[in-house]
Amino acid sequence: MSRPFNFSAGPAAIPEEVLHQAANEMLNWGGSGMGVMEMSHRGKEFISIYETAEADLRELLAVPSNFHILFMQGGGLAENAIVPLNLSRGGAVDFVVTGSWSQKSHKEAGKYASNRLAASGAASNFTSVPDAASWELGKDAQYVHLCSNETIHGVEFQQLPDLKALGCDAPLVIDFSSNVASRALDWSRVGLAFGGAQKNIGPAGLTIVIVRDDLLGHALDICPSAFNYKTVADNQSMFNTPPTWGIYMAGLTFQWLKRQTEGALSGVAAMEVRNKAKAELFYQYLDNSQLYVNKVDVAYRSRMNIPFFLRDESRNDAFLAGAKARGLLQLKGHKSVGGMRASLYNAMPLQGVQALVAYMQDFERTSA
Ligand code: PMP
Repeated sequence: MSRPFNFSAGPAAIPEEVLHQAANEMLNWGGSGMGVMEMSHRGKEFISIYETAEADLRELLAVPSNFHILFMQGGGLAENAIVPLNLSRGGAVDFVVTGSWSQKSHKEAGKYASNRLAASGAASNFTSVPDAASWELGKDAQYVHLCSNETIHGVEFQQLPDLKALGCDAPLVIDFSSNVASRALDWSRVGLAFGGAQKNIGPAGLTIVIVRDDLLGHALDICPSAFNYKTVADNQSMFNTPPTWGIYMAGLTFQWLKRQTEGALSGVAAMEVRNKAKAELFYQYLDNSQLYVNKVDVAYRSRMNIPFFLRDESRNDAFLAGAKARGLLQLKGHKSVGGMRASLYNAMPLQGVQALVAYMQDFERTSA
């Protein structure tokens, strides 16, 4: 029996092949007689899982050798504190606020640093992003923070800004929780990237941090040791017990990603082609419909999270009930913005988007 299509924004759908493999290995991983959750993180079995996951992620995201990959805990919100604890040196930090998640990052950093607002999309209700040329970036900024994809507002940077070209030498920090591994990433523009795993990578509980070597070793004294990037890096993410199950599941997803192909492309490049096609299909349908609307500036529309509204909001409950009956799950929008949201992460096949559009057409017809 085929499973329903799951449009959750996170924790989100995991590729079925990955779930099957995890189920098959649940009681006995690799002939060890142990499940992964039961293994010492320092044993040779888990070390091999960890090393393969790290190498695969490095390959998939084309992470340069002068960056460390850290597997941590705490999720995206904890990183809102951990990043300033490690990088702010107690000075000033510039934030580009483009939606709820960068807004939270900006606020939290104020506990540890002077958190300046370089730009905000609030005036547009977070449907657009101020042009980078207008950002107020201070010469003394220790870093500049942005969220590469705003999961709630559906606003995504199609390209990361080149801070140097804007006259700013500070490293760029990105929260890539909801678009990691969905498209290529230009590391020459990034100093640090962080994200929770529970959207494109695996189960909740694992946080990925990818940090340029020169940014290690500047943590404030009050930074907890388990969150000091240098300590974590020096101990291959095993200063404390890392989220072993999350790392294992992420590793299976990385192997799944490496197997994905589109023509001559594979891995993230193949996913990017697919994700673009999925989003185009969906936006094109929304833009031509009389019932549904997406309000985001075309230049910043997210490929991963697509909020949309019924022009007749009294039909919301009927829409969701009908979707569920057709095997289309978790389409309710975030409570802060209302409406609907379709999250089209890597694990969502084109067929899922086609099924959603077919349902929405039927619903529109019966609502006319
Ligand atoms: N940043 C972004 C972009 C997110 O989408 C989320 C979660 N939806 C978070 C941060 C917070 O992640 P967590 O709940 O794992 O702390």
